[in-house]
Amino acid sequence: MRGRIEAIAVTVGCLIGIFFLAKWISGDDGTTKIDPKLQPLVEEWITTMESSGMSDARERLGKVHQIKLASIETLSGAEPLGVTTIDGDVIKINERILSRDLMKNTLFHELGHALFSLDHTIEGIMNCSQDIDGPYPINDPDKLKQYINQCLASR
Ligand SMILES: [Zn+2]
Repeated sequence: MRGRIEAIAVTVGCLIGIFFLAKWISGDDGTTKIDPKLQPLVEEWITTMESSGMSDARERLGKVHQIKLASIETLSGAEPLGVTTIDGDVIKINERILSRDLMKNTLFHELGHALFSLDHTIEGIMNCSQDIDGPYPINDPDKLKQYINQCLASR
């Protein structure tokens, strides 16, 4: 009898182990793995959204499992500035972006897709084409405001 209880205990232990392993692998613990180079920009996004009335911006960010710098190329040979997986799980920012402002613009754009399912707009931060030489909508207070309002409306 004693042996059986131990066997059950070990089984339960294994199941718990598997559960945590699965959580660890999927990264589904409400935290976001963020490339250190992108961390300050992610903090800027949180501060921007919090000061605009989105008090749970940091919590919302937890829906994204990973934000990383990566080399991005499509089959057609195009090189997007950023991509977001369909489920909004992973955001990739093109590692070849050199401008901090363009990187920030791209991050805000992808977070708009990932967290608020925003579609592309004709102009502004959610515009799908951005001249790499600028000017960047992120630096235009009106366009930043437009983006914030889009996010607030899509909560
Ligand atoms: Zn886009």
